[in-house]
Order: sequence, then C-alpha cells, then structure tokens
Amino acid sequence: MTSLVAVGAQWGDEGKGKLVDWLAPRAQLVVRFQGGNNAGHTLVVDGEQTILHVVPAGVLNPATVNVIGPGVVVDPAGLLGELEALKQKGALRDPSRVRVSGRAHLILPWHTALDKAREEAARGRAIGTTGRGIGPAYEDKVARRGIRVADLLRPEALEEALGRIAEQKNFELEGYYHWAPVDSGQLYRQCLAWGRELEPYVDHTERTLEAALRDGKHLLFEGAQGTFLDIDHGTYPYVTSSNCVAGAVCAGAGIGPTRIDRVLGITKAYTTRVGGGPFPTEETGELGTKLRERGAEFGATTGRIRRCGWLDAVMLREAATVNGFTQLAINKLDVLSGMPELRIATAYRINGKLTEDFPMTLPEIEQAEPVYETLPGWDEDVTGARCYEDLPGDARRYVERVEALAGVPVEIVSIGPGRDATISRAEPFRAR
Ligand code: GDP
Repeated sequence: MTSLVAVGAQWGDEGKGKLVDWLAPRAQLVVRFQGGNNAGHTLVVDGEQTILHVVPAGVLNPATVNVIGPGVVVDPAGLLGELEALKQKGALRDPSRVRVSGRAHLILPWHTALDKAREEAARGRAIGTTGRGIGPAYEDKVARRGIRVADLLRPEALEEALGRIAEQKNFELEGYYHWAPVDSGQLYRQCLAWGRELEPYVDHTERTLEAALRDGKHLLFEGAQGTFLDIDHGTYPYVTSSNCVAGAVCAGAGIGPTRIDRVLGITKAYTTRVGGGPFPTEETGELGTKLRERGAEFGATTGRIRRCGWLDAVMLREAATVNGFTQLAINKLDVLSGMPELRIATAYRINGKLTEDFPMTLPEIEQAEPVYETLPGWDEDVTGARCYEDLPGDARRYVERVEALAGVPVEIVSIGPGRDATISRAEPFRAR
C-alpha cells in the first residue's frame, strides 16, 4: 500500500493531467482533494484527447475508482456534463467508478455570476480567475453558509436555504454589480434534478479511502493548480482560493498525514503562468513567443494564452520545501529541443541584494531579477526516447542540473503529450 500525492510545483498547467493518467493504472483509487472545475487536465490516449475539469484523471482507466473529496467545490452542471461525455465515449459504464463526497460544497449560479461580476469590476487589478465561481463558493463554505452535495438530496431544507441565501446574493449582484439576479425557485427545481442525477455517485468518501488503505491499495492524490497558486504559500493575492500544496490532501480528502508515503512534484522544463501576478523569469519577447508556440501554451479551461519563461530553481526549491517532495517529474522536455542554449534561474537580485530564497512578500517577488545559469541546448528530437539513456547528453545534463538545484531526484521525464512519451527512472509507488 502506498499513497502518492502528485502536485504542481509552479503556477499550474505543469501537465499534471498527463502524468496522473500515466500513474493511474498503478493505483486503484485516484482522488481530487481541492479546487473545482477550474482545473483543466488534458489527457491524450491513443491519439484521442479528453479534457477533464473536475473528474479525476484516472477515469480513463477502467479499473480505477475516482474520488472527488470533501475539499473540492463541485459545479453540479459541470460535473454532470463531464460524466455524460465520458459515458458517451464508453469510458464510464459503472457509476461506482466515480465517488463524490456528500460533504463537498456546491458551486451555484450566484457564485459564477459574482466571480464574473467582480473580475469585470476589478479591471486592471483582476486576478484572472477562470470565472467559474470557485472563489465565491469557497468564501461561502468558510462563512458557513455553503450548500453541499448531500443537501441536494434533502429537498425541504434545501428550499429554505436557497431562498435565504438568494436574498443576500441577489442584493449584492443587483445592488452592487448591476448584474442579473438568480431566481431561487428555478434554482431549487434545478437542484432537485441535479440531486436525482448525482445520487448514484454520492458517497461518504472518507470511508471509501479508509477501506482502500486497509485493503492495501495504492492511492493517488491528484492536485489541481500548483504550489504558487496556493492561497497561503502562493503569490497572494494572485492565487486560487484553496490550499493546493501536498498537505492539503489530509483535510481535503480526509486522511491523516501518517498515511502519505510519497509526494511527487510536477514541473515543466520551463515556466508558464496564466492570468495576473509576478513572474520573475518571464520572457515577453521572441523567446516567450517561441516557448508558447512550441509548447502550445494555451489554457485547457479558458483557451487563454500562457505567459512563458525560463525554469526557476528558486521557485522549485521553495516548492520542495512547502510540499516535502520525495521525487520530481519534469514535463515537456521536448519543447526545449533546438534551443541553442538554456537558462535556469538559480537566485534573485532584489534591490541589489542576492538571495537564493523565494521572497515572502509580493513587492519583493515583483522586484526580483533572476540570476541565470546557462546550459548548452540540444538539437535532437527527444520525443522518441523511451528510457533515460535515449536522451542526448545535454538533455540529461539539464535534467541532472535541475535535480541538483532542487535537491530532489527527477524520477519522471515527459517528452510528449501521449502516455507512452514518458520516461520513468524509478517505480513511483515504491514504499518509503
Ligand atoms: P495540467 O493542468 O497540469 O494537467 O496541464 P494542462 O493539461 O493544462 O497542460 C499541459 C499541456 O501539455 C497539455 O496540452 C498536455 O497534453 C501537454 N503535455 C503534457 N506533457 C507534455 C510533454 O511532455 N510534452 C508536450 N509537448 N506536451 C505535453
């Protein structure tokens, strides 16, 4: 039995979806523990693309059970839409393969409306949210006025709660943002329909995980977003509204810290960021465009272009610290082929002072000038490599330099979007 947590080491979009899909056949359960349908995981199996937003990326493996834990916020229409698409593909015949915590909070239409209204009103200071209502849903959860998945199955209490909350939400939507109100009667009827459709999936997921651990199964916890989007450890306020570091698994899925064996940090071979906020190694010129085009850096959820730049080892070290990485995966190494030379930030200069530590405050991160180390590039196409030794010497030197700078072994190297374009240097689920 091994529990492996896979989380992003950067600002999300590290290619977690591809790796989780690759890891999933080795696990019996794949678990989401935070975030909502703002995650956009792109899986490519036998050349066919599937984009998942809230369903765990193990779903394409017929033997895997996929759990949406209590720490996730669930948009019922979004979830049902994804489930329906999977059913139509023939990828989901048995509802028991997707388990949704009755304790997970719901994203309701007023959350989406408020998310959009606020971003529009913020203009120049917008966070760049996906507009899917995730932040407002987490706000209601913490304010103790949220509605949870299991509430969809209790009509009387639900009708009263919706009416009460609607009054306040519509006051804000109409009065403050001049936005259309939500009809609570219509929403109630919609909720009943969602409840009927979701009922076969609703589960006391803590018990399901406990039973799996007792039976000696491998569990894979799938992070969404990434370390620097974490509400506490990220580049606040340009962050998401949940904790997405490895420790969030315990609260968000309902297992104890003693049950986690391994933490896999996933990084790209370079860096990208969507939306606003500081990005020390960003390249806004030709090089940034080159990385964006070669790496197809456009968001899976929103289609927005991603800002691109060199790999940042200062960030990687910080991510290793706050997550306790036991192993690293480097994704998209193929995108760097053909670059004459490669750079990695090893330190920052802030107000003339050199530091190897990721700064504590936003102004310092904004002022950080990266100090680079230059490495030779390679010309060879690496997409056909299937073992580490197949990689050209300079590609291996790049990987090994990242390993040394991060202080964590690189055990997986991804060299293409497909499942087979993955080099594994060690068994990911081996016991600690
Ligand atoms: P996630 O949210 O972390 O899963 O990342 P996304 O799915 O949004 O973005 C990753 C993108 O890169 C997807 O389009 C993947 O198919 C693609 N991808 C993943 N790994 C690799 C790789 O090693 N090489 C290349 N060229 N593309 C990859």
